[in-house]
Amino acid sequence: MALRTIRTEGDPVLKKTSRPVQEMTPRIRELIVDMLDTMYDAMGVGLAAPQVGILKRIVTIDVGEGPIVLINPEILESSGEQTGDEGCLSVPGMAGQVTRPNHVKVKALDINMEEVIYEGEELLARAFCHEIDHLDGKMYTELVEGELHQVTYDDDEE
Ligand code: ZN
Repeated sequence: MALRTIRTEGDPVLKKTSRPVQEMTPRIRELIVDMLDTMYDAMGVGLAAPQVGILKRIVTIDVGEGPIVLINPEILESSGEQTGDEGCLSVPGMAGQVTRPNHVKVKALDINMEEVIYEGEELLARAFCHEIDHLDGKMYTELVEGELHQVTYDDDEE
């Protein structure tokens, strides 16, 4: 177990497309454990492998309901709309308004490379979209309506 360094905006790795995971290996398992540790340490709700400099299609999420690991995730369905503040561990201390689907269904592989399906609403749907975008080199800052603003602890409730 180890904390990894979170890459921040401007690092070219965040603009690259990640490659699918072909098989589970001890190294990838270790990466996933490290990603979870790094995400919790930074108090984030999600982390994508490119954010720690690894161009593999792996995402970790925890919106307060326990850890979710997505390998090679794909959005199967999305519906509805939500507009709210979004932030990113790669853009520390900032947030901005982003419109996302309110309901998202995702197919992925879990840490045992078995297929899993998740459905999420609100914050979880937002996290699925945000983290999967990272795997295609997309940052939420490209989607922000209006301007980024600094996060203060007083209005940090989504
Ligand atoms: Zn992010």
